[in-house]
Amino acid sequence: MSGLCRVCDILPDKPAKIGRLALAPKLLSILRRFSPEAATHWAYFDNAATTRTDPEVVQAMLPFFSQSFGNPSSTHDFGTAAAAAITAARRQVQALIGAEHEHEIVFTASATEANNAALLQALRREERGEVITTAVEHPAVLAVLADQEKHHGIVVHRIGVDRWGRLDRAAFRRALSRRTALVSVMAANNETGTLFPVAELADMAHDVGALFHTDAVQAAGKIALDVKASRIDLLSLSGHKFHGPKGIGALYIRKSTKFRALIRGGRQERARRAGTENVPAIVGLGKAAELAVARLGENQLVEALRDRLERTLLATVDGAFVLGDVECRLPGTLAVAFDGADAEEILFRLNRAGIAASSGSACAAGAMEPSHVVRAMKVPYTAAHGVLRFSLSRETTASEVGQLIGVLPEIVAASRAASLFAPQAAAE
Ligand code: PLP
Repeated sequence: MSGLCRVCDILPDKPAKIGRLALAPKLLSILRRFSPEAATHWAYFDNAATTRTDPEVVQAMLPFFSQSFGNPSSTHDFGTAAAAAITAARRQVQALIGAEHEHEIVFTASATEANNAALLQALRREERGEVITTAVEHPAVLAVLADQEKHHGIVVHRIGVDRWGRLDRAAFRRALSRRTALVSVMAANNETGTLFPVAELADMAHDVGALFHTDAVQAAGKIALDVKASRIDLLSLSGHKFHGPKGIGALYIRKSTKFRALIRGGRQERARRAGTENVPAIVGLGKAAELAVARLGENQLVEALRDRLERTLLATVDGAFVLGDVECRLPGTLAVAFDGADAEEILFRLNRAGIAASSGSACAAGAMEPSHVVRAMKVPYTAAHGVLRFSLSRETTASEVGQLIGVLPEIVAASRAASLFAPQAAAE
């Protein structure tokens, strides 16, 4: 998923000075729009990209910058206070995913790192040289496997999906064999929110002696997870997707699973992830996990709001249809294709109206093309360039939904009028 090219948007024209800080005027004007007084004008529908860090999370993190700043490996009181905070955070993440033991949780610098560590260690099983994944995984899985395929001769089966984004189970069954070292299937897709039957797929993987990994980045904190009750061996998650800080993730490694560290050095995280722990971020992830467990029920409200947005949008914009499995979806994700429209143009106009969302496009050869997920679902050409994702969170309000609904029909119409992807333009 991508959106506007924000980097180009904030490139300096003429630097301005704030105290000792030199800032570009465009960056300044963007920052001003996010001041507390201006915040009410914004509607944020990009929670699948990242969520706002919960103020309670920020409060929990603060003491670990300049008060309890010790190195958790130190034996003095500064160190033991930091180590105790990490233990508490580990238990909070353990509770979020229903792990049996706290030491099954290893903190990482991101879910991307957790995915890399999980996949690379599982592919060290020399007697087995195949891996099964889906065609719609995040690049943090697909790119790792593509590299293994190219440079290490690993055979990768990328199982397709149907037009609703559901896994082709027959193809999955055909690909599974005693040669399979690992199966990696995401718990929920980041573009459509479609949920995958990971517990069932984990059983099937185990039946042929393969390990099972799931990228649960989009699912964690939004739906109940219970690794104890399943046969999932490895699970990745990321703090910033559920109101925690950025740059912190975790990898669940089932107790009996053999694991060799990806990042080597000191003996932190029981020698499974070297490097001095990012204590404030770990504490923040723990707090975010605790809040997510306590507020899991609020996802019903998020779902009701998403459904209202979906209904109104379909009723007011012609030629729009929902992507993904509407029966089995994350509560806050809504992917919509606007036939004949250009998603980048819509995003640009929404942004000007104070609304943040993202598109189902990815940058390919310098141009925006439908993402691999949109392509895998075989969305028709004239609609594939008009895919938008609106992702809500427990912070999304009815008034934000109203703001979006108020402008969207006109914006889509304007985009269609100018679009190369309108059916008549495509035919020319
Ligand atoms: N996996 C999925 C499904 C994601 O949506 C993302 C982030 O967008 C990632 C992995 C990467 O997570 P992180 O930002 O923690 O590296």
